Amino acid sequence: MIVARTVQEVRQWIRERRWQGCSIGLVPTMGYLHEGHLSLVRAARARGHQVVMSIFVNPLQFGPREDFDRYPRDLDRDTALAAEAGVDLLFAPPVREMYPQEPVVTVKAGALAERLCGASRPGHFDGVVTVVAKLFHITQPDEAFFGEKDFQQLRIVQRMTADLNFPVEVVGCPTVREADGLAMSSRNQYLTAAQRAQAAALPRALAHARERCERDGERDARTLIREVSEELSSAGIKIDYVSVVRDDNLEPVEQIDRPCRLMAAVWVGQTRLIDNVAIDAAAAGANCPEHRGQHPEAAVPGVPLR
Ligand code: AMP
Repeated sequence: MIVARTVQEVRQWIRERRWQGCSIGLVPTMGYLHEGHLSLVRAARARGHQVVMSIFVNPLQFGPREDFDRYPRDLDRDTALAAEAGVDLLFAPPVREMYPQEPVVTVKAGALAERLCGASRPGHFDGVVTVVAKLFHITQPDEAFFGEKDFQQLRIVQRMTADLNFPVEVVGCPTVREADGLAMSSRNQYLTAAQRAQAAALPRALAHARERCERDGERDARTLIREVSEELSSAGIKIDYVSVVRDDNLEPVEQIDRPCRLMAAVWVGQTRLIDNVAIDAAAAGANCPEHRGQHPEAAVPGVPLR
C-alpha cells in the first residue's frame, strides 16, 4: 500500500493506474478506522477496483463548538488496518494540503441539508459536499463508497453527483454494528462504559419500531416516532430528532406506504450518536389484506427496487 500526503502524489498514482486500465474505487473517511470503514474497502475490492482510501478530518464540516480538535486520530493504526483490508493507496493529507488558502468557492448542499442532522449542525453538509467534491476531483473515482449509517450524507452526496454531473457512481453500503446492535462509529470511543451500555437502547428502539411496522402492520409514522421516543427517553437518552422519511429523497412521511427510513439522532452524555433503519413498505404491506398477493412495490411507481 502506498501512503500519499499530497494531491500531486495521488494524481500521479491515479494516472499510472488509468494507463494500466484499472478502475478506481474511493472510500472517503475521517480515520480512526473500524469494521464499518473496512466493509466499504471490501465492497470496493469486490467490484474489482484499485482502492483509494482518504483519511482526512475535515475542519469545514465541524461547527465551532463541535469536536474537531478532540476527534480521535491514529494514523499508524489506520495505516496497518487499511493495508490489511486491501487498500492500494491511502491518501492522508494535512489540512494545509487540502486547504492551502481559505476556500472561497464552496459547494452548498441546499434544502436536503436543512432538516434532520442539518437542523442542529448548520453548515455541516456544506462542509461535507465541499470536501467530497474536492476528493472526487483529486482521485477521479469510477465509484465511491459511503455507509448507510450516515444516511442523510449518502443521499446528499448522491444528489450532488447528479446535480453537478460528477462521473462517479455513489454506492451505499449497509451499516456495520457491534454485537449489541450499536452502529460502529469512531465517536463511540467517547462513551464511558455506562454510556456505552445506555447507547444500545438506540438501535434497540429502532429495531422495535421496524418490527411494529413490518410485523404488526403499523404504518402511522407519528405512532412509531412516539414509541421510539418513549423507549429512548425511558433509557435516559436525550433526543435530537426521531423522524420517518422517504428513502429516496428524505421527505417526511405520515404513512409508511413506500420504502422509508426511520432516522434518529440522540445525545448520550456529551456524545451525539445517529442511526437509522430501513422500513420496508413491502414488508409493512405483508399483513394488509389489500396488498396480499401483489408485487410488494407494485403500488409505488418510480421507486427503485432495493
Ligand atoms: P467517517 O470516518 O465517520 O466520516 O465515515 C467514513 C465513511 O464510513 C462514511 O461513508 C460512513 O458512512 C461510513 N461508516 C461509518 N460508520 C459506518 C458503519 N458502522 N457501517 C458502515 N459504514 C460506516
